[in-house]
Amino acid sequence: MPASADILPDPTGFAGASNPVGSPESLAGLARLDKSHFWHPFTQMRDWCESPDDPLVLVSGRGAILTDAQGRDYFDGNSSIWTNIHGHRHPTIDAALREQLGRLAHCSALGYSNEPAIRLAARLVEVAPKAPPPAEPLARVFFTDDGSTAIECACRMAAQYRERVGETGRRRFVSFDGAYHGDTLGVASLGGIPAFHGLFAASGYEVTRLAAVEQLEALDAETASSVNAVVLEPLVQGAAGMRIWPPGMLRRVRDWCDHHGAFLALDEVMTGFGRTGRIFACEHEGVVPDFLCLAKGLTGGYLPLAATLTTERVFSAFLGGYEEMRTFFYGHSYCGNPLACAAALASLRVFEEERVLDSLPAKIGAFSIALEEARDRCPHFGELRQIGLVAGIDLVEGRTGAPLDWREATGAKVCLRAREHGLLTRPIRDTLVLMPPLCSSEEQIQGAVRALERAASEVLGAGAWGT
Ligand SMILES: *Cc1c(COP(=O)(O)O)cnc(C)c1O
Repeated sequence: MPASADILPDPTGFAGASNPVGSPESLAGLARLDKSHFWHPFTQMRDWCESPDDPLVLVSGRGAILTDAQGRDYFDGNSSIWTNIHGHRHPTIDAALREQLGRLAHCSALGYSNEPAIRLAARLVEVAPKAPPPAEPLARVFFTDDGSTAIECACRMAAQYRERVGETGRRRFVSFDGAYHGDTLGVASLGGIPAFHGLFAASGYEVTRLAAVEQLEALDAETASSVNAVVLEPLVQGAAGMRIWPPGMLRRVRDWCDHHGAFLALDEVMTGFGRTGRIFACEHEGVVPDFLCLAKGLTGGYLPLAATLTTERVFSAFLGGYEEMRTFFYGHSYCGNPLACAAALASLRVFEEERVLDSLPAKIGAFSIALEEARDRCPHFGELRQIGLVAGIDLVEGRTGAPLDWREATGAKVCLRAREHGLLTRPIRDTLVLMPPLCSSEEQIQGAVRALERAASEVLGAGAWGT
């Protein structure tokens, strides 16, 4: 089936002549090897391996378009699981990576340094959110590899900080229902999605999980004084299904933390780097956290890299004589990887050179209109939640508007169907997710919404299409 032409035009102009594709023989061989050996994340592998279809093997990309081994083009509707920012094969990022490859791909940050990591640390401090005093500026950057380790690092810093300064009563972390902070054991204990985290809840940090800021404000004095840090996805919870916090919530959490001497650790792994229309989501409410956790979009979606930013106050608690054991005992093999840091520096340069943030309001506006029109037309689109270039659409039963039975995996069926209309994305149960790369054109964004609407109508039957 031909991909719908309307979401394919490549507005970025940096497409190569044509994308390389695989041969049919190599594709069949790859499919066999995949099903024999490759265990995919968050994937029911029985369905995967027993499917009569070959896995979709992507071989190249340009801008917001990905091309499969058979030469078919797709719009990257969820930014390659929320990572891609300026598109695939962006010339500035590609060139920066090639140049760095000509020098050095990796060296340790344990005992040595490297230029891209040094420059990126300084640059992140420059672009970090700022607020007038008493807000303390974010001045120190610790590199890790993934979103999970960025949050893990913040929690370890917070925990070791309290120990270093003798505040040993502050052992409690506060997180929220529906939260997703990653999959390592420590941060999984903060998570509020039972299917992901239930098994591990008891084995990580001491966590108090709340549903809303009102519950935080209602904590009794004794509990409040035991809080080390509040950990939060600002403005929108991604894995919860793009659940948007009420306006002002973030500000109230910051004020509560200030009043009670607790840290605020913000997980901007998904929201960072322009997704919400600003570089960081916390800027919408003028909030500066004590820990800012960045990953996914940090390298423009090219390479795994994460950063945890914190204040001079936190940093200085770890200073002392070698024998005092105040060192931050934590780190990973690829901390400050030069190649990944070069990609991140180039991505930040693209934000400036191409005035990316200035281009967003028009795209976000077009996205809103397209989504609202689709919701009004399509009886299977229920609640719609959008912030910036992030959207979640709940699929519902057409006539009654009731939720679907999640065991039917309708969201997954709709997204599979959407491939035939040239769109790649992945649902969260029966919430459809669209998160176009920031480089997408308005026409591509509108085309993606249309593709999803068509797919929903085809899977769920009798709808606006063809009637
Ligand atoms: C993806 C995500 C994480 C985990 O990041 P990984 O790189 O997958 O470890 C944490 N928090 C949020 C909000 C995320 O979206």
